[in-house]
This record gives sequence, structure tokens and C-alpha cells, in this order.
Amino acid sequence: MSSLLIKNCDWAVTQNEKREVLRNASILIRDGEIKEIGRPATGAADAEIDARGKIALPGLINVHTHLSMTLFRGFADDMQLQEWLERKIWPLEAKLTGEACYYGALLGSAEMILSGTTSFVDMYFHMEDVAKAIVESGLRGFLAYGTIDLFDEARARSERQNVEKFFDFVTKLGNSRIRFALGPHAPYTCSPEILQWSKDFAEKHEAILQIHIAETRREQADFQKQHGTRVVEYLDKIGVLSKNMLAAHCVWLTKGEVGLLAKAGVRVAHCPVSNMKLASGGVAPLPEMLDAGIAVGLGTDGAASNNSLDMFETMKICALLHKAHRWDPTVLNAQKVLDLATIGGARALGAEHDIGSIEVGKRADIILVNARTPRMMPIYGKDTVVSDLVYSASSANVDTTIVDGSVLMENREIRSLGVDEILSKTQEMASQLASG
Ligand SMILES: [Zn+2]
Repeated sequence: MSSLLIKNCDWAVTQNEKREVLRNASILIRDGEIKEIGRPATGAADAEIDARGKIALPGLINVHTHLSMTLFRGFADDMQLQEWLERKIWPLEAKLTGEACYYGALLGSAEMILSGTTSFVDMYFHMEDVAKAIVESGLRGFLAYGTIDLFDEARARSERQNVEKFFDFVTKLGNSRIRFALGPHAPYTCSPEILQWSKDFAEKHEAILQIHIAETRREQADFQKQHGTRVVEYLDKIGVLSKNMLAAHCVWLTKGEVGLLAKAGVRVAHCPVSNMKLASGGVAPLPEMLDAGIAVGLGTDGAASNNSLDMFETMKICALLHKAHRWDPTVLNAQKVLDLATIGGARALGAEHDIGSIEVGKRADIILVNARTPRMMPIYGKDTVVSDLVYSASSANVDTTIVDGSVLMENREIRSLGVDEILSKTQEMASQLASG
């Protein structure tokens, strides 16, 4: 039972229904929940943060990453996707241990806390070790074991067991910040049977199901050659599109496929930086997806293809990409981009009642961004604060990160993790991976 008062915020960007931006706001948190917004009486809390010169906003939500891939940051860049995967990433992944994934997840956690991300969606291996790291970090994670059966029945059987084992692990853990998710990798690595099994499992346990869809032109073309149908049409035909599905990328879609996703209530994780870096060759039809009413969030993808987990950078690049692509500076404004990284991300996770905005009754996932810094000044008023956050701010301006009412970082000092040890250990793990 503890309480925290964040007082004197220069601005509070609530991201509530009316997208209110409040001046000189205070936020009272009790037992991890936002209790009051406005000017609560001072002295009513066990601890206080003086947020003068700072902007409060909901913690950012990264809806697609592979956290432990921070270990591969900078290992292989500037390559074709397939060559990159087959020659560089997959051989290294085959050598991953639980210990390596644990330290990779801690490294990613430290990076997210420093850059204002409070919730993330992960799909990878050695997920029990990743979960252990997330419990320590204090972040909120939707964690999935990455399932790949390569159309092989024996492999499918052991993959189903791995998923069930991880489900039991998360259930026993009983930590409200750690949510179980399904993670069939992609329609080209997973049989229709395991996709259908994953869908049923997700529905039964009310979990999200992450999957990679239509990331590159080559994938879409190969798929069409092999199956005689486009990827989303195929998923529709085998009956696996559902409201639990969170589809990453969705770059190569027709309008018809966007319609199919919308009709089924599928949510989308848009990963503009990764798509640009790997030169997927196209730009995801984000305006069309939003017009169709699809819940879209923003993701970084793994640090091997980004190479950071920086959601401030992702917001800005997302806005610039769509403006440049459509020759239209109005196609995606700052408010819409901030929505994708906050309340939109929460909707994409079906978690909009808990997170994604600063509202009474929601979990206290809040960050403070330092406004009194040369790259943020001047601020003209409440109508420009959101623009300032999307176009001017950098993740280095994040001063304080709070999840579930716990202060994970203040004055850019991470409290929940020992960063020095994590840095040494991850360097050690990387050396082992590269040498062995
Ligand atoms: Zn991915």
C-alpha cells in the first residue's frame, strides 16, 4: 500500500477520450492506480516527485519486438532480409542459451526504461528467462514463445508442449505485469494446423496471438506461388483471423486484405523503422488500415533490425515515412502518431481499459519528459505540446519512468536494474555467441 504524488507537471498529455492536455497538473497514484488528476492536496502521498519543467504522458507501448535480440545489435547490417536471416541471424539464434536471453532481455529492459517505454510485446525463445528479467525490470510485458513447426508434425507436437509449458509458467508466476501471449511466427513457417491450434488456445485463455504477416514483397510473392493465394486471404480461408490476432508488419496488403483484417477485428503492429532498414520495398498502408477502423500500434521489431528499441525515434520516423510516401504532410499528424504509441497500442493489445492514457482508474504507467532542454524549447502552448513530443523530443529527454506506480527511473537513474553489470554481461554473451 503506497502512494505517489507527481506534482507541478508543466503539462500533462492525458491521451484521454478528449485528448486533453493539462497545464500545471498533478497526478495522485495509490497502489499502482491513478486516483486523481488535477490539483490533489499535497502531503497526501508517501512520496512525491516535483515535475516542474516536465511533461507527463502515458508510458509508450511497443507492440512488436524480440527483446533478447538486443544481443545481435550491430552484428549484421545492410543485408538482404533472407540472406541476413539465413546466414547471420538463424545460426546465432541456434546458439542462444537461457542465460544469454535473460541478459539480452535485461539489456532491452534498461533501454526501454531509459527511452520511456513501459509496456511491450515480445516473441522469442527461452521465454521463462525473459519473463524472469521482466519481473526484475518492473516493466509490463506481453510475452509469447515463438512457435515454428516448419510443417512437420513431430515438431508441431513439441512446439505445442513448449507453448503449454510457458502458459503454465506464466500462470504460476501470477504477476499482473506479465501477460501470456501466443506467438506462431508466420504463415510461411507455421502449418495451418498449428495456426488453428494457436488461435483456439488464444481464444480459450483470452490472450493475444502475435504473428508476422506480409513483411516483404518476396514473402507475398513466394506465398502466392506456393499456395495460389495471398497471405491474408489464405489466413481467412483457414479460419485463423480473429480479434485476438496482433499482426506485425502488414506491409504488402491489398485493399481487399485490409478489409478482411478489419472485418475479423485483427489488430496490427506497424514497424516502420525495421521495414525501412530491411528495405521491405513498400510502405504499410497505415492510413487505409486506420480508415478501416483497425486498431494499430507501433513497434520497433527486434534490435537486430532497427537497431534500437526507441519509440520516440519510431514515432518521428513513422510520421515522416508516411508524409514522404504520400506527398502529403497532413496524412498522419503528430496526434495520430502519439495515439499509435499510447492508447492505440493499448487498443491493439485489448488493454485500453488498463493502460495507454492518464486517466483515473487506470494503472499508473507514466513517463516524465524534460521540457527544459534546448531541443524542446520554446513550447507555445497546449496545442503544440504533442507536436513537440513527436517531432522535437528525443528519448534522451525522458527523465522519469513509472510502471504500475513504481518509479523505475528518476533523473535518468534506473532504480530497478544494475545497468553496469548488465552491460558487462551482455558484452560477454555477445563474445561467446560470435566465437563459438
Ligand atoms: Zn518481428
